[in-house]
Amino acid sequence: MLRNSGKSKMKDWHRMFVQQLMSQGSMSGIEVFITAKILIEKFNQEAGFPKINLNHEDEKAQNEDIAEFIDHLFTTCNEALEKVNFQIKRGKQEMKEDDQYPQCYTFVCTEENEQIAKMQKIYSEPELELLKAICELLADEKIATETKLINLCKEGGFNSTRKKLTPIEAEKVIHTFAKEKYIINNRKHSRTGSKNTTYYMGARLILELENWLEKNIEVDMCRVCSKPVFVSVECTTRNCNNSYHRYCVEAKKKCKECKQPLKLDGATSKR
Ligand SMILES: [Zn+2]
Ligand SMILES: [Zn+2]
Repeated sequence: MLRNSGKSKMKDWHRMFVQQLMSQGSMSGIEVFITAKILIEKFNQEAGFPKINLNHEDEKAQNEDIAEFIDHLFTTCNEALEKVNFQIKRGKQEMKEDDQYPQCYTFVCTEENEQIAKMQKIYSEPELELLKAICELLADEKIATETKLINLCKEGGFNSTRKKLTPIEAEKVIHTFAKEKYIINNRKHSRTGSKNTTYYMGARLILELENWLEKNIEVDMCRVCSKPVFVSVECTTRNCNNSYHRYCVEAKKKCKECKQPLKLDGATSKR
């Protein structure tokens, strides 16, 4: 447990939240919501706990209070973590699921080299090479089939002196990347392991390796939030070519630059 210096505003509920996130690596918005609810039930009688009304008549008001508590956890934990070069980041998946963009929370080291070292402890070099190749492919094609991702292990883009993954090894690690939400399985109902499964870039990878992506992959940057975007909405106006996250332009549906309407439907490949 982190020690309380006295000055720190970190209390038991903050520490439990950080521990939960650290042990899971990343959490979805729903998982964070459930955790917040548990923390409220466990700690709401304790001194210093934020005032939360647990007896709301309607669910919407109750959920808003929980969302506010999550914001409080997020801010307070990050204030404390900042001092030791860690950060909780949150972002949205680039494609909708059940009519909303699922949220992703992840625990990252703000020292970029440390963050990469963390990946190197988990994955072997050929596995990380494959992940890089997947990033390049998805930056280009936005969505790709599992077969296409597996076949990347055969391509000559890798340093030929290094060990390459066999297709079976590649398939296995691709399933791990998907389980860890580095890439997202696009079809909820497809059988796992089906070769027809398609994937897109996960918010977790974008959040954890944001600077690395900017430096190493030719990825578009969203013109609204200035963050890397894979499944982008592109302005089709000649010489404009701005890219956007769907969720960044969903309300206005207009290009920030040329003001032309944007088409949000479908995910089309650039090729
Ligand atoms: Zn954006
Ligand atoms: Zn435009």
